[in-house]
Amino acid sequence: MKSPDRNTLLRELKNYLLLLEDAGYSEIPCEAELFAKTGSSESTIPSLVKIMASGKKATQLAQVHKELGDCTRCKLSQGRKNIVFGSGNPQADLVFVGEGPGADEDEQGLPFVGRAGKKLTEIIEKGMNLDRAKDTYICNIVKCRPPGNRDPEKEEIEACNPFLVQQLKAIQPKVVVALGKPAASTLLGRNVPITKERGTWHDYEGFKLMLTLHPAYLLRAYTVENRKAVHSDMKKVLKELGR
Ligand code: URA
Repeated sequence: MKSPDRNTLLRELKNYLLLLEDAGYSEIPCEAELFAKTGSSESTIPSLVKIMASGKKATQLAQVHKELGDCTRCKLSQGRKNIVFGSGNPQADLVFVGEGPGADEDEQGLPFVGRAGKKLTEIIEKGMNLDRAKDTYICNIVKCRPPGNRDPEKEEIEACNPFLVQQLKAIQPKVVVALGKPAASTLLGRNVPITKERGTWHDYEGFKLMLTLHPAYLLRAYTVENRKAVHSDMKKVLKELGR
């Protein structure tokens, strides 16, 4: 395939950067080493092509973010401070899906940054030996904080679900992990007894789905049995990822 000329690439790159800016991004979601190659325009073109290719998923994700906009599709919008769209690497093979933002997440506009988030980071980085920002993408079944941290209601989940599906379609991960009963039940469309079904593989919209315990539950019931369970579930995920 013939490479596009430099001016076309620069124009497309500019459009891509404007789209990201529009969607609220302040940095380029792309591997740092791609920027290392500089010099003559001859050597810059392959680098630009790589940046554009690696940016395709980010662009699609930014489009989903833009479509979500300043959402008022359900009543959760009335009490939120910030929409918590998701964070991590759009290129990641692994996506974690939680229930919904808590107070810390609502405050910062980022998923899993409170106590449960620290536990999730520990599971990813110490337990799985992965880098949270580089190797994973993290989001929730609802993007706004349910008041008083109650479970999200059916209509709220239904209003948000198209955005979750589109996020996953943009990222195309190898594995999705549902964290806890509400996420597992929402993704599978039935009441999931999480302590019985954790550790099992399922299908969600064509993606391989693993169910595990929510890190907040793990903190509440910090037993050897529960810790071993999550460890064993994540080992299965790593095996599926070939890591
Ligand atoms: N719990 C969740 O399910 N999601 C978050 O983002 C934070 C805590």
